[in-house]
Amino acid sequence: MRFSVIGSGSSGNATLVQAGETTVLVDVGLSAKETVRRMRAVGFEPTALSAILITHEHGDHVGGMPVLARQLGIPVHIAHATRQVCKLTEKDWNTISWGENVTSNCPIEIGPVRITPVSVPHDAAEPFIFTLVAEGIKMAVVTDLGIIPKHVAEHLRGCHALVLEANHDRDMLKIGPYPWGLKQRIASRLGHLSNDEMARFLVQDFDGGAEHLVLAHLSEHNNHPEIARLAALQALDSREPLFAPDWEKRLRVAHPKIPMEWTIL
Ligand SMILES: [Zn+2]
Ligand SMILES: [Zn+2]
Repeated sequence: MRFSVIGSGSSGNATLVQAGETTVLVDVGLSAKETVRRMRAVGFEPTALSAILITHEHGDHVGGMPVLARQLGIPVHIAHATRQVCKLTEKDWNTISWGENVTSNCPIEIGPVRITPVSVPHDAAEPFIFTLVAEGIKMAVVTDLGIIPKHVAEHLRGCHALVLEANHDRDMLKIGPYPWGLKQRIASRLGHLSNDEMARFLVQDFDGGAEHLVLAHLSEHNNHPEIARLAALQALDSREPLFAPDWEKRLRVAHPKIPMEWTIL
């Protein structure tokens, strides 16, 4: 199994996960054109894509989905409630190849990849994160959730790689440029993971099994890659020697606009 985060943050999220001949795209928050460009930039031919998975209806996760799904003619696996609130045209409804109705804890099998949707607290109709298992290897894309509740942490056990949200630094959010209401929303239990909550998870609930951690969905206004990285490194250091050594190399921060090279698991 291998994966590449090709976009991350409010400008658009998308992650390629590949096992054998099967490749799925988790979210299409970039335009279809830009998604295609970034897939090619990491050496993947978009026509070989097997399916699209959607976590929730926010524009930074579905913006490019209708066009890309139609262009490639591949199934879109999405929750019923999410599909209802996506801004879809009648043409989208009729021409997109809708896949399985994503529901909590009901795994979807695509080729050798078994995808489990896990409900998360986020201000969307029916938000999920996904764990993906193939060839005995497990990974998860964990963004867009205000906190990591115990039931989510349980699902993250045994992961070989985690793409983990580190959205904001609480102090930067407080003094940052956003209006008060938006700050409240981001910081709430239905908002986005702060560096502190990410670090708390790494100290208290992370099983330490993952060999690769990618911090993702960083706010461009309310966080800085080095601050997020440092928060994660300090959390991991506090738990040594249980953990894989050399986090300096195994902990990376996804770039909003530059696709990450493949991580092979
Ligand atoms: Zn998002
Ligand atoms: Zn969201």
